[in-house]
Formats: sequence, structure tokens, C-alpha cells
Amino acid sequence: MGLDSQTLLFALMVISGLTGFSIAVVSAGENKTGLWTWARALAIEASAWGLVLLHGSVPYWASPAGANILLAVAQAMKIAAVHAYKGRRWPRWRCALPVVLMAALMLGLPPGDFRGRVLYGGMIYGLQLLILLDSLRPGGPLRRTRAWRLLFGAVLTLLPLMVLRGLAAALRVYAFAAPGGFAPPNIVQVAAFMCMLSLDIVGSLGFVLLTKERSDFELRALAMVDFLTRALNRRAFVDRAEKALALCRRTGAPLALLMIDVDHFKRINDNYGHAAGDAVLVALAAVIGGRIRKQDTLGRYGGEEFAVLLPGTGAAGAMVVAETLREAVAAMPLPAGERRLAVTVSIGVAVWSAPCESLESDFSRLLEQADSALYQAKRAGRDCVLMGTQADESPAPTAAAVS
Ligand code: GH3
Ligand code: MG
Ligand code: MG
Repeated sequence: MGLDSQTLLFALMVISGLTGFSIAVVSAGENKTGLWTWARALAIEASAWGLVLLHGSVPYWASPAGANILLAVAQAMKIAAVHAYKGRRWPRWRCALPVVLMAALMLGLPPGDFRGRVLYGGMIYGLQLLILLDSLRPGGPLRRTRAWRLLFGAVLTLLPLMVLRGLAAALRVYAFAAPGGFAPPNIVQVAAFMCMLSLDIVGSLGFVLLTKERSDFELRALAMVDFLTRALNRRAFVDRAEKALALCRRTGAPLALLMIDVDHFKRINDNYGHAAGDAVLVALAAVIGGRIRKQDTLGRYGGEEFAVLLPGTGAAGAMVVAETLREAVAAMPLPAGERRLAVTVSIGVAVWSAPCESLESDFSRLLEQADSALYQAKRAGRDCVLMGTQADESPAPTAAAVS
């Protein structure tokens, strides 16, 4: 093999340093996702490899002892980076203990005990990789995505490698350092360094992509939600409704849609101001959202118009839910200065059910029915619930017919 340990160590130092530098530039010192900590870990790793290169020309406490301790610090910082990504405080003991162990072992072992250093160092490094794997367990913002698989896979591959390298040293599988210098190139050392180099790059790439995936996910979620009320926005609601309807068509289960409109909302704005109007909308979304099931969906359909999707709910059930929501809103405590603000809603209900609706019937038709029922509820005096009839049976009143 033409590669020698020094060349590989040099490559490790340069590549860890440059990767750390690049990540530092991208993170710009911002550590919400742990990128900055990861970049610093790589910088420390690069200096550790630099120290290993100086082995033989610097005192033992600096290299290899100090170099191994720095490597343990770098691993501890990677664990801290993953915790920063999850928005948690870094686990002090799980970060500090392996570093303290590494320092005690490296400074305690006789300088000539290369075998002991590789064995114990490998074990402690392995322990840190285990802690890193445990920190990478999905939860919170950490999801089992492709980038996560990249990072997890890199750590998982490195773990047995480090342990095997330690065991190989203990079992005298390969030659050891010449006194005060480097081991002659051998397959185990070269393979171990090559793997460390490759997995460091793969792992760092995985971590960087993880942060990108997270911001993509957050942006997508943000694009689906109404800024004021946190309910789904119209586009996301319609999207969800169409998917739910397609599922109902396949399974034959019914689907109900409620269109909810605040009564005389303009008066609330005029009498109490736009901010009070906004507060009413927020409270309304909270009251409705708190009273529907997990599988139901609340959306803000327009200004002061909300829509609720109730999969698997037939006409009778939908009327009960709508009536419950109407009553809950009417009883909603809404203080406006000294007085209590009375808010009521009118609700139009429409139901898609397999025996009544044709299979081609789409969401816009359901929407028309609910809308026309809402219109009739307004005409009936507001603060009430009305069920929409099928368009074929009784045509919805047109604006001209009503005015
Ligand atoms: P009706 O009982 O017939 O529904 O009467 P209304 O006053 O509620 O009727 P309309 O739909 O004409 O009025 C809706 C008002 O809602 C008009 C608009 O200024 C107000 N609005 C729309 N979006 C917002 C919002 O985000 N915040 C506030 N404060 N007001 C909004
Ligand atoms: Mg209104
Ligand atoms: Mg309206």
C-alpha cells in the first residue's frame, strides 16, 4: 500500500479543518441547529490530528496523550451539537466523563504502551460513539430522514471499527509504533484512518443536511398554517379535504364539512377595534380546535370564516358536533375592557355519504352545499346550524334570488 500513516493523518487534519471551517461559515456563529458546535468540534479534531503528526517531536503529554484527549473533546462536542439541534442542554456527564477517562488513561499509561493506548482509546471512543448514537434517537425535531440515516450510518459504522482496531492492537494483530515515532504503514492503521476520514465527511454532511431538512420542514409547515390563528390556511385545508374525500370514496365512509362564519363580525371590529377582532378570531380557533377530534381538521377559510372537516361523520353526527361548537362559541369568555363580548357563529353543514352522493362528487360540490346552508343560517337569524341539501334536490339560492 503506497499510503503511509503520516500522509493520511495530514489529510485528516486538512479535511477536518476545512470541513469545520466551511460549516462555521455556513452557520455564521448561529447555534440553533448545533452547526456552530459541530464546526468547533471539527476544528478541535483537526488540531488533534496536527498534534498526532507531531508525535515524537513534542513531549508525550502533548502527543499522543494530548491529541487523544482533544479527540475525545471533539467527540463530546459532537454529542453537544446533536443536543443543541434538538433544542436541549448538552448532557454534561455524558460529554465530560469520557474526556476525563481519556485524560486519566492517556496521562497514566507509560509512554511506550502504544498497545494500551489504542485499546483503551478505542474503547472510550467507542463509548462516545454509543452516546452519540443514543443522542441521535429520533424525537422532537430529529426525524428518521435521509440525512439522519447518513449521519446515523456513519456513526454506526465507525463504532465497531474503533473497537476492532483497539482489539487488533491488544491481540498484537499489527505492528506498533517505532520508539518515539510512527508505526510502519500497516493495513489496520491505514484502513482505520481512511474510514475515519470518510465517515467524518459523511457524518458532517449528514449533520449539515439534517439542518437543511429541518428548515425545509419548518418552511413547509409555515406555508400551511394561518399566521394569526394557527389553523390550517385555505390552500392546505382544501388539500387535506380532497385527500380525505378520496379516501372516503374508496372506503365508503361518510365525510362532513362545517362552514362557520362569525355573526356581525364587522360590528366587533367597528366597536372594539381591529386588534379585538383579531383576538376574537384567535379565541374562536382555540375553542373550535379544542373541541374536535384528532382526526378532524380546522382551517381558516377566509377572513372570519372557518371550516371543519369531520372524516367518518354522517349527517346526524355532524349536526351534533356543529351544535356543540355553536354553543361553545356562544359561551366563550371574551372580555373586552369592562364588558363581556358576545360572539356567535352561524354554521352550514354538508355531508358526503356513499349511498347519496355520486362517486364523481368532488369537494367543491360539498363546499357549495355547506356555503348555501351557511347562507340560509344567516337568513334564518344567525347563531344557528343548518344542514345543506344536495344541489340536485333543491338548488341553492342565488344572490339575486335573496336580495
Ligand atoms: P355576517 O353576520 O353577515 O357574517 O356579518 P359580518 O359583519 O361578519 O360580515 P362580513 O363577512 O361582511 O364581515 C367580515 C369582516 O371581517 C370584514 C373584515 O373587515 C373582517 N375581517 C376579515 N379578516 C379579518 C382579520 O384578520 N382580522 C379582523 N380583525 N377582521 C377581519
Ligand atoms: Mg361574518
Ligand atoms: Mg364572512
